[in-house]
Amino acid sequence: MLDEEIKKSLKKCSRCALCSANCPIYDIKKDENNTSRGLICKLLGYEKEELSLKEIKKDLKICLNCSKCRENCPAKIDTIGIFAYKNANFFPSKINQKLFLNLKLLPIKLLYFLNFFKPKKKNKLQSNVIYFKGCIAKAQHKTTYLDSLFYTPDFSCCGLPYLTSGDMAQYQKSKEKNIDLIKNSQLVIFDCASCKSAVEEYFDEKEQEKFIFFTDLIKNKKLKLKENSKYKNKTITFHKPCHMTKKDFETIENILSSIDEINYKKLENPDSCCGFGGSYFIFHPIISSLIALKKAKTIKKTSAVLILSACPSCVLGLRYGQLISFNFKKTLELRDFINQEIVIG
Ligand code: SF4
Ligand code: SF4
Repeated sequence: MLDEEIKKSLKKCSRCALCSANCPIYDIKKDENNTSRGLICKLLGYEKEELSLKEIKKDLKICLNCSKCRENCPAKIDTIGIFAYKNANFFPSKINQKLFLNLKLLPIKLLYFLNFFKPKKKNKLQSNVIYFKGCIAKAQHKTTYLDSLFYTPDFSCCGLPYLTSGDMAQYQKSKEKNIDLIKNSQLVIFDCASCKSAVEEYFDEKEQEKFIFFTDLIKNKKLKLKENSKYKNKTITFHKPCHMTKKDFETIENILSSIDEINYKKLENPDSCCGFGGSYFIFHPIISSLIALKKAKTIKKTSAVLILSACPSCVLGLRYGQLISFNFKKTLELRDFINQEIVIG
């Protein structure tokens, strides 16, 4: 049977379907079996013994974990927590769960392997203002410009892949290590929207105040394109990662619009998912590609020569979307664009 906390959450659902209306998977498949509302109905059916365990396990495997259902739920149901509970408790077996998780992490493991012999720069700065460097930048042994400014502790993964696969033990391990590294800091700076949202989940609202996106550090500065920038008088656009807050998105838009020599153009539906979802692409290539193509179509309408984003997984997803739609526009991390093309006054 279900645990009490989950039952309480399930009972709050009014079946309004706002989750389905905002779900990128529903948008493609038009199948309620794969939405939060569908999952909630199935779990309630299981609780009332109207549905068997077999019927519960059948669907509900194709969530992107984009959080849009949770963001749009008027009852504030933690749908991501319900998906994690489902994966932790209703997965066919622990062996399958581990296998699924390992496949999910394969792209990152591959990056670590490929960059194993690349020299790793040690950051010696010690301060209580710290930079949370995400797994992908770490796996690439990439030195970002934030590395040279702030202390970068050896954080564990933010835990999002473990949580969404239902590996709660590993999630707890990562979370505890990260909390330990964060606890004495004054400010934690992020450049990946997904890492920021995952780490914020460890703490209450008051504690979350010390987590900022790096753009908050430059929002009141005068930004200028470098003299030799190839983006002078060019149009650029920005893809909002699903896990980015509206506030961080607004800050980024204001910054990009304030740079005189570039033409920032907002995407139509900037919030729509890129379809990549970490490693979602590996398990569901068709749905992932259909979502990526939709995104590529909105990008094309802007005539932008450069697409920016602030999550390495989104950047990969956008590149994939460009490739399969034969658009081939350049895609960059916002952090790298600022570093390579901008002078901060
Ligand atoms: S948006 Fe929330 S309340 Fe509405 S159907 Fe979805 S989960 Fe239930
Ligand atoms: S997390 Fe995203 S993909 Fe998954 S059910 Fe919610 S809206 Fe749909």
